Amino acid sequence: MNHKSIAIDGPAGAGKSTLARKLAEKLGFLYVDTGAIYRTVAVKVLWEKADPADPAQVIPLLEGLEIHIGYDSDGVQRMYLEGEDVSAAIRKHKVSGVASQVSAIPEVRAFLLDFQRKLARESNVVMDGRDIGTVVLPQADVKIFLTAAPEARAKRRLLELEQRGEAADFDAILRDIKDRDWQDEHRAIAPLKQAADAVLLDTTHLDLGQSMSQLLFLVKEKIK
Ligand code: C5P
Repeated sequence: MNHKSIAIDGPAGAGKSTLARKLAEKLGFLYVDTGAIYRTVAVKVLWEKADPADPAQVIPLLEGLEIHIGYDSDGVQRMYLEGEDVSAAIRKHKVSGVASQVSAIPEVRAFLLDFQRKLARESNVVMDGRDIGTVVLPQADVKIFLTAAPEARAKRRLLELEQRGEAADFDAILRDIKDRDWQDEHRAIAPLKQAADAVLLDTTHLDLGQSMSQLLFLVKEKIK
């Protein structure tokens, strides 16, 4: 049986995860946050004290790497590394930069490509990331490119960190977001870019509810 897939790509902080999760819930699809998978590889790199900028130190860690995705009763995705629940650890600020670094390594991307495609073969999915519509699922039934101005994204990230009780500074977050955008857009392999057949959704001036209605409208137009 052919499964349906919805690809949602875009830069950090555009609201992808929240919107994709809610969309999956509404449609009864599996939600896959692929950034969380890259973040889990980053945690492994940190555990092993490897240099994320050095492929020769990162690539050997992929062999036998044990990553599993689970879901709690609310459908929230959880990540397991070697059996340990790292769902909270992957959200640490430090992990974001390391994830972006390791995600530029072709062998890391190749390893995770199979992992992600297998999930889409087995279930109807809403998958969010950077290269889902362009590389991972080029045949996706719906492709959305979700974005927002860097300042709006930094403001949302600041709120998120504050709610989790992590100290945060707006200027530092904005700088980080811009750095990460630059790294993700300029890497040689699978850079962040809108697929030719993706629909652009800019959430700079939209709140969550408004973004969700627009997203649902776009998806329902494509999947009857
Ligand atoms: O989406 P999130 O911010 O959690 O992703 C963390 C990092 O993982 C991104 O900055 C990006 O470098 C990388 N990533 C990627 N391809 C994806 C998802 C995430 O390169 N499909």
